[in-house]
Amino acid sequence: MEKMSFELELRWNPLLREWVIVAAHRHFRPWQPKTVCPFCPGSEETKGKWNVLVLPNRFPSLVENPPPPFSSPKPPYKVERAYGICEVIVETPIHEGDLCDLSQENVRKVIDLFAERYQKLGSKSFVKYVFIFRNKGAAIGVSLHHPHSQIYAFPFIPPRIEKELRSSSEYFEKHGRCLFCDVLKAEKEDGKRIVYESRYMVAFVPYSAMWPYEIHVYPKRHVGSLPEMSEEERDDLAWVLRVVTATYNSLFDFSLPYIMVFHQIPTDDKDYGFYHMHIEFYPPHRDREKLKYAAGVEWGAGVFIYDRKPETRAEELKAACKKALMKLKNQ
Ligand SMILES: [Zn+2]
Ligand SMILES: [Zn+2]
Ligand SMILES: [Zn+2]
Repeated sequence: MEKMSFELELRWNPLLREWVIVAAHRHFRPWQPKTVCPFCPGSEETKGKWNVLVLPNRFPSLVENPPPPFSSPKPPYKVERAYGICEVIVETPIHEGDLCDLSQENVRKVIDLFAERYQKLGSKSFVKYVFIFRNKGAAIGVSLHHPHSQIYAFPFIPPRIEKELRSSSEYFEKHGRCLFCDVLKAEKEDGKRIVYESRYMVAFVPYSAMWPYEIHVYPKRHVGSLPEMSEEERDDLAWVLRVVTATYNSLFDFSLPYIMVFHQIPTDDKDYGFYHMHIEFYPPHRDREKLKYAAGVEWGAGVFIYDRKPETRAEELKAACKKALMKLKNQ
């Protein structure tokens, strides 16, 4: 591929106090290309023998050597260079499938690579936050179907994380305990929304879920990031990620689209002892055929409306999980 010039900058939204990445070149990225898959073995970047692979994102939203901003705004606007790194984790050489279709060892390798990249990218001076996520399905806007995750190394702490950091920091100040540990305790005491519990992890529909089949996965032990997890915990996490994705695919007996995100501590070397890493899943479906949209009230007012009870959805997910476990154990 010929070398592309990047048109990139960070624009500050003074009303919401949030950065927006303006990546003009991304307009030209391929949408579900009909040609050969760039992640299947044998292409320029995927030569040799491998199980999991890290590749630079060819259409990055943040780069290590960003060009000077192309706009020159006056206050109240402001602009910054788009420092950062965008990577792709190719999870398997096999072209189709979900995390649950990969072997246990394979998913474990994916997790180890997540931990390695988190540390490596997080150690760069311009990186304050390493964000790991996985988009699955055309409903989410995925343009390449080969199993893969992505990493965005941000030069700032994203607002959603910042909100969680603020509430857990204030909670810790006030109660001397971790907010997430207390959420876990409340969920375990109630029990109605727990979809699956393993030795080291709990997967549950949050009490105030926003998306119909939203599931959060918390490690039982208070850890801030993947590198703090033991070998056994990582094995267990790999298993639970397979269970959750298999549960989703059993729910309506089709491959359910979802977004999976890792929330870990920032990498700006401050003390975040009060924060507890976790994984969140947001599938957009509200039943087999219908999607839930973030529409007027959700997007325009920032208030989510959840139809049905989260406890009812959790029941459905528990039943799907039973089916999924039988399948997984017979694999
Ligand atoms: Zn492929
Ligand atoms: Zn905790
Ligand atoms: Zn979170």
